[in-house]
Amino acid sequence: MGKVEIINGVETINGEGFQLTLLDKVIGAARANSVWPLPFATSCCGIEYMGTMGSNYDVARFGMERMSFSPRQADLLIVAGTISKKLAPILKQVYEQMAEPKWVLSVGACASSGGIFDTYSVLQGIDRVIPVDVYVPGCPPRPEQIIEGCMNIHRLVKSESLRRRYSDEYKHLLKKYDLN
Ligand code: SF4
Repeated sequence: MGKVEIINGVETINGEGFQLTLLDKVIGAARANSVWPLPFATSCCGIEYMGTMGSNYDVARFGMERMSFSPRQADLLIVAGTISKKLAPILKQVYEQMAEPKWVLSVGACASSGGIFDTYSVLQGIDRVIPVDVYVPGCPPRPEQIIEGCMNIHRLVKSESLRRRYSDEYKHLLKKYDLN
């Protein structure tokens, strides 16, 4: 009948005059190749993220060169740096202002766990206030690691069902983090 091919990561059956695939695979591939990041950068990891966005690393290869400083026009929240407890409600508000579907990348030890700042004033991991999809380790992580984190986000975006954010798992997270 038709030949099975992988086109841009999407399994497709190609025949004479027709092409078959799954709609959520096509949408997943389109989304993964046009992720607009919103950088929430506060300290040294933020500087490393700026390096990642430079010409040496060319994130335009992955459709990620268009940064969005409006949460309403962003798909991926990139949190890079130390988040103080005072800043946590603002981070949560920015997350809530992003439209679905949305993803979160936690860059570096501080964003993921508070890092070396085990103090009264520093949030001990952003997952205490918002759900995180991918963590990037390091203090600071190198640009290659940040790009690897972005690639893991892409893998997630491609493999998810269109309704992921409305799944039982997601409802559980909403309840857990009081994001309803
Ligand atoms: Fe700075 Fe290290 Fe914290 Fe990154 S993880 S913000 S490099 S102290």
